[in-house]
Amino acid sequence: MTDKKDKKIAIIGAGITGLALGFWLSKKGFKVTIFEKRKVPGGFLETVRIGNSRVERYYHHIFKNDTFVLDLLKKLGLIEDLNWFRSTISIYTKGRFFKLMTPWDFLKLPFLSPITKIRLGLAMLYLKNNKNWGKFSQVTVKDWITKIAGREAWDHFWGPLFYGKFEEKASLISAAWFWSRVHIRVNSQEKNREVLGYLKGSFGKLIAKLIKEIKKNQGKVRLDKEVLKIERLSKSNQFSVETQNKKEIYDIVVSTINPYELIKISQFNRDYQNELKKVSYLGIICLLLVLKEKQSKYYWNNIFDSEIPFKIILEHTNFSSAKNYKGNYLVYLGQYCNPDSKLFRLPNKKLKEIYISYLTQIFPEVKSKIKKVILSKSRYAQPIIEIDYQKLSNKTPLRNFYITSLSHIYPEDRGINAGLKEVKKITDTILSEVSPVKK
Ligand SMILES: Cc1cc2nc3c(=O)[nH]c(=O)nc-3n(C[C@H](O)[C@H](O)[C@H](O)COP(=O)(O)OP(=O)(O)OC[C@H]3O[C@@H](n4cnc5c(N)ncnc54)[C@H](O)[C@@H]3O)c2cc1C
Repeated sequence: MTDKKDKKIAIIGAGITGLALGFWLSKKGFKVTIFEKRKVPGGFLETVRIGNSRVERYYHHIFKNDTFVLDLLKKLGLIEDLNWFRSTISIYTKGRFFKLMTPWDFLKLPFLSPITKIRLGLAMLYLKNNKNWGKFSQVTVKDWITKIAGREAWDHFWGPLFYGKFEEKASLISAAWFWSRVHIRVNSQEKNREVLGYLKGSFGKLIAKLIKEIKKNQGKVRLDKEVLKIERLSKSNQFSVETQNKKEIYDIVVSTINPYELIKISQFNRDYQNELKKVSYLGIICLLLVLKEKQSKYYWNNIFDSEIPFKIILEHTNFSSAKNYKGNYLVYLGQYCNPDSKLFRLPNKKLKEIYISYLTQIFPEVKSKIKKVILSKSRYAQPIIEIDYQKLSNKTPLRNFYITSLSHIYPEDRGINAGLKEVKKITDTILSEVSPVKK
């Protein structure tokens, strides 16, 4: 155990994970510097201004059992800004929206036979009452559902829902991931209805507050500073962190960026690089429409029709009132897809045109109601959680070089809460290996 004081820590990435790490470590007395390549902090929680308020580039909410998020909001004095809403969900297929909020709505779905509904209901009950996800880790969700509830249950219900999240990789996904997803959602219910949380003024408020606290603790948050190279200095066992025109020396490095991006800027041996590349990713295309009028009745609409490229229409202002955005209505269109596909690589203008033309098939008047369109894309948005998933360690082959990423999260889905759980693990590890200055 080293016992040096004044350890300098470089954190790569100012998403929620990097900033929360910066907050806790600077509070413990470490000298923290966070590097962020974009001009705006937040990573997937980056926000844009709409009217007097801000909203996330990518749709976000939290669940009732996101305890790490709730604890952080309490710690930062933001818990009073958290509002809980009853979510409203539908399935859109062949020109119609089908409400899907209660077991009764499920029983009324016209495209599933009564026997499949009963079998699916029993399968969900079995999953819900099973406390051990381990036994689901060796089977794909497709095989598990098909075996327990029949082919129709996969082809006409869970298959399209999984396709919406994992595209053509849907049939590879581990049933353990599904187990965790069901548990999160079931535990976020009140009176059989799902309840979701959203921070008044956006999660950008959480990001801004973390930065303020880090600065109060003498930490630094450097925006528009892409880390280009991280090198181990053999003489001192420290690290040189290089940005454009500048090299600085740090005792500890924590990477919160995607493993594929980390490989490009670090010098790990080939074996470790291969380990980091074991998990593959889907990208996300997300269109945020600012509209003059409300479109859908529901917050979350799952699109089952395969010819429509986006798989979710999320009407944010059915959740957080349009009054918060100067009367503007906000709708997201989301699609997870292969980042090397032709669609993902289309120019933004073309992508916007395609999405809006499909949206017009669903809401014929929508084009005339659009005030603004904001397109966001990210290459590494959703890790593909296959069977027998082996979680990566937070330690790397280099001492004092730690890593976390979406690939580190299992069996739960990646999310703000899971990121904060990683933060706790890494903070504890660093504290157990290094003694900082006490505050
Ligand atoms: C469409 C979508 C919807 C989601 N909805 C929800 C939701 O409703 N609820 C929920 O809990 N979670 C949701 N998530 C997941 C959640 O957003 C993520 O799990 C979380 O934000 C990840 O945070 P992070 O800090 O780990 O990573 P990131 O947010 O990816 O942050 C990493 C940061 O590193 C920066 N970076 C990369 N390379 C470098 C470099 N070389 N130098 C400096 N900086 C660099 C990036 O710019 C980025 O800011 C959603 C994700 C997506 C894509």
